Amino acid sequence: MLNGIVVKAYNSFYYIQTGSKIVTCKLRGRFKKERFSLTVGDEVTYTLTSQDKGVIEDILPRRSLLKRPLAANVDQVVLTFAAVNPDINPALVDRFLVVAEFSELEIVLCINKIDLADTGVIAKLTERYERIGYKVLTVAAKFGLGIEELRTLLHDKITVFAGPSGAGKSTLLNALQPGLELITGEVSQKIGRGKHTTRFAELLPMAGGGFVVDTPGFSFTDFTDLAESHLMDYFPEISHIAAKCKFSTCLHFKEPQCAVKQAVADNLIHPERYESYLEILAEIKDSKKGY
Ligand code: GDP
Ligand code: ZN
Repeated sequence: MLNGIVVKAYNSFYYIQTGSKIVTCKLRGRFKKERFSLTVGDEVTYTLTSQDKGVIEDILPRRSLLKRPLAANVDQVVLTFAAVNPDINPALVDRFLVVAEFSELEIVLCINKIDLADTGVIAKLTERYERIGYKVLTVAAKFGLGIEELRTLLHDKITVFAGPSGAGKSTLLNALQPGLELITGEVSQKIGRGKHTTRFAELLPMAGGGFVVDTPGFSFTDFTDLAESHLMDYFPEISHIAAKCKFSTCLHFKEPQCAVKQAVADNLIHPERYESYLEILAEIKDSKKGY
């Protein structure tokens, strides 16, 4: 029996990668009866029926399942933002961070297009997020700058990219995987069709080990699934300090003797991060009205 990982699913065929070899497999009948939906990222055991064909015998337990894009066992997200064009919006960065934290993914914050940016501005932003404990990479995908460092972070992991449109996600993937030629913004405008038209995600094996999901993840950030009292869990610097608030139910909004508000006043928490927190808190409150 061999072990492998599903890198592509197509018309009830599964492409299973073991080492550098890809085998096309079908599922054993019993899985079809169970209506089990095998997806990219799943780990399986299989037997060969010919040199490059096989049958999937078993599916290993999933560590996680990401819904957008649909992929199992994703470890990490590279949140990609352009420093400039479109200008980075820290409030939007914070929203993406919350979704990534909620999805229990390891997070790399990738600031792209630094060739167009003011170094002082980039240094400040980097400091803002590194101070909280996030890994921050500054790159210029178009010029291959910082790509090697990114590549080492992908090693042995399944990584998904996320971030606003135009940030440079396709350009980054192309830089990581020369020869891939994903459609980037410029081209898709020329041929006049949307990028990433509906299709299933695939895993791209990286030269240095690890896989990248070829379809970017969660671009729309909706917080209605979150509970008000849990929002702070997704702001590391807030949850770190929340135990010091006078009231254990403190939402760090209007409560007296709030250690978080004090930390903002003392410049230990960035005021814009706190603003992001309050904004999302208000959205969650609003969404629960009338229930
Ligand atoms: P996506 O929507 O996130 O996939 O973004 P794309 O990869 O399509 O990139 C959007 C635009 O930004 C394209 O015109 C790219 O050529 C451009 N771009 C990407 N990376 C860089 C970079 O490092 N520097 C500059 N100046 N432009 C970049
Ligand atoms: Zn508080």
